[in-house]
Amino acid sequence: MISPAKTELLGMDLKELETYLQSLGEPRFRANQIHAWIYRKAVSSFYEMSDLPKELRNQLDTAAQISIPRVLKQRVSADGTRKFLFEMTDKKKIETVVIPQSRDKDTRFSLCISTQVGCPLGCLFCATGQSGFQRSLQAYEMVGQVLGSRREMARKLKTEDELITNVVYMGMGEPMLNYDEMISSIHSLNDHKGINIGQRHITISTAGEAQGIIRLAEEDLQVTLAISLHAANDSLRDRLIPLNRKYPLKKLLEAVHYYTQHTNRRVTFEYILLDDVNMGAGDAQALIKLIKPLLANINLIPYNEVSGLEFKKPSAAKIRHFYHLLAEAGLNVTLREERGGDIEAACGQLSSKRER
Ligand code: SF4
Repeated sequence: MISPAKTELLGMDLKELETYLQSLGEPRFRANQIHAWIYRKAVSSFYEMSDLPKELRNQLDTAAQISIPRVLKQRVSADGTRKFLFEMTDKKKIETVVIPQSRDKDTRFSLCISTQVGCPLGCLFCATGQSGFQRSLQAYEMVGQVLGSRREMARKLKTEDELITNVVYMGMGEPMLNYDEMISSIHSLNDHKGINIGQRHITISTAGEAQGIIRLAEEDLQVTLAISLHAANDSLRDRLIPLNRKYPLKKLLEAVHYYTQHTNRRVTFEYILLDDVNMGAGDAQALIKLIKPLLANINLIPYNEVSGLEFKKPSAAKIRHFYHLLAEAGLNVTLREERGGDIEAACGQLSSKRER
């Protein structure tokens, strides 16, 4: 006989947990206890929930589950960046990156989470895009990356402090293609009784899915929007980011304009610096023309080479020159400090295939 599927409690808010516990004939306060165990202590075994009666622990273990993923493997960079390989309940694997926010490696961390297993967009410079697409993650699997990472970091650094304070939806996958689950996970992360990561500490990064940008503008959220631009003309962008054929720059910029008008929030354009591809004087001029009228920053990211892909990292002198062209034109430009390149955890390098 096939046993019935267990109810997934990860991702449930307090009200949903109350409804579930009531369906088992339990009082409401049990939901508070379980909520704290899951979201405050990242506990996934009912047997560790020491303030629950033994019979209830046994009953929950048979009927329910809390699928905080296990770290299958991890690599640590010389700069303190860590890459976790997580396994989902169906054995699919994803990567999550923990990035120290300062040179002091044991202070606070940003977490770069995945929204899909692989990615359907196939950006030319990206290891994930080249490794194919398997499925989208559910909201609880995004929340699980945060809890699984918090649990692992607390264990490693022997502390109960909340070390992960920022979350970036910039790992494997395109978040806007998994929109409803992504939004639902943001509400879970933001719950002040639970994980309690402020909306202003959350960034969503898209390759330019204009429809998702318009939808996000209409949410009442204080998150940061980042857009992977990487080219300032359609012919090059069509080649680097095939999604540009569906949403060319004109459409993308209309969506960005709508977003900034609606939210009055500044957007960040990410621009990967690819040697001899998108760093000429003409590229800088096109970029300035495109970005200057917008409420926006631009973040330059020197490319991290991926074996098997054609692109090269530019020299430090070329990077400086491009930066100065933009800065002198009055753009709000930053140069991203490189993190995790030595463990293939940097932008565009994630691909769980090579980690298996
Ligand atoms: S860069 Fe982002 S959107 Fe493009 S293929 Fe990689 S993961 Fe997907």
